[in-house]
Amino acid sequence: NRRQQPSSAELITGILAGNRTALSRAITLAESTNPEHAEKANEVITGCLPHANKSIRIGITGVPGVGKSTFIEAFGTFLTQLGKKVAVLAVDPSSSLSHGSILGDKTRMEELVKDENAFIRPSASGDTLGGVARKTREAIILCEAAGFDTIIIETVGVGQSETAVHSMVDFFLLLKISGAGDELQGIKRGIMEMADAIVINKADGDNIKKANQAKLEFNRALHLFPQKKSNWQPKVTTCSAITGEGISAIWETISSYVDTMTASGYFQEKRKEQNHFWMMETINEQLKLNFFTQPEIISQLEQNKKAVQNDEISPFAAAQLLLNIYAKIQK
Ligand code: GDP
Repeated sequence: NRRQQPSSAELITGILAGNRTALSRAITLAESTNPEHAEKANEVITGCLPHANKSIRIGITGVPGVGKSTFIEAFGTFLTQLGKKVAVLAVDPSSSLSHGSILGDKTRMEELVKDENAFIRPSASGDTLGGVARKTREAIILCEAAGFDTIIIETVGVGQSETAVHSMVDFFLLLKISGAGDELQGIKRGIMEMADAIVINKADGDNIKKANQAKLEFNRALHLFPQKKSNWQPKVTTCSAITGEGISAIWETISSYVDTMTASGYFQEKRKEQNHFWMMETINEQLKLNFFTQPEIISQLEQNKKAVQNDEISPFAAAQLLLNIYAKIQK
C-alpha cells in the first residue's frame, strides 16, 4: 500500500502540472497529524514555494446566515467566467469541536463545485486554530503552485479566526446584511478595522432600501477610523449573491486595491510581514506546546503552583526553575 503513495517529487510534478488529485493529496499530507507525513509534506511545500505567491488572496468573513457560501458561489463563478482559477479554502474555528464544517457549504456552491476552474476544500478539522491556520497557509501555497490565481479564504465571524485569516490574505472582505436600522450594534470594532471592504449582502427585493441605508451608516463609521497603514480607504458596497447585482463592482474594488498596493510596494511588503508573522507564531506555539507537554514540567508545575501561591517561592524564581529544567531536558 505504501508503495502506491506518490513520492514528493511526483506530487510536486503533478501539482505544477495543475493535477487536482496531486493537489488534494498534498493538502491531505500537509493536514496530517502523523509525524511521518510531516517531512514529506515539507518537501512538497518547499518544492512548490518558488511557484507560489502569484495570486490574490481574499479573506471573506461574516456571521452564519449572512450568505458567505451563496456569495462565494456567485463571486467564484463570476471570476472563473473571467478566466480566473479560483480556490476556496476555509478556516473554521468550530470544526475542532463539532468535527463538522459549517463553512464551504457545497450545497450552496453547486456551480462552483462542478467548475473545472474552481477548487473547493473544506477546513482542516480536529485541530487548534493555530494548527488550522498553518495548514491553510500551506494549502494556499499548494493551490497557487497548481495555478490557482485567486484564493478565497472563508471564515466565520467568531473568535480569533478572523484575525488569523486577516494575517494570511491580501484583501479582507466583511460580509454584512442590513438589520433593523442600528447597523453598527454588536459589530466588533476590531473586525471593522481589519476590513478593506464591507459588502452589504441580500440587497434585493424589499431589502434594497435598507441595504443602501446600511451602506451610508457603515461609510460614516469607517471614516471615523484612523487611516490604514496601506492608506487604503475601505469601500462599502451592496450586492445580492442571489441576483448577482453588485458582484462585478466588488471585483473592480479588489482589482483597484491590488493595482494601487502593487504600485506603492505595500502588497509585497505586507506578504513579507505575514511570512515573518507566521514563522514567529509557529515558533511560539510549538515552544509552548513542547514545554507544557513534558511530563517533568507538568509535575514540577503542579508542585511549584502551591509554593508560588503560598509565597514560598517568587513567581519569577519558580518560572526560572521550570525553564532551567526544560533547558536540561532539551540537552
Ligand atoms: P452562510 O452561513 O454565511 O454561508 O450563508 P448561506 O450562503 O448559507 O446563506 C444563508 C441564507 O441566506 C440562505 O437561505 C441563502 O439562500 C440566503 N441568501 C444568501 N445570499 C442572499 C442574497 O443575496 N439575497 C437573498 N435574498 N438571500 C440570500
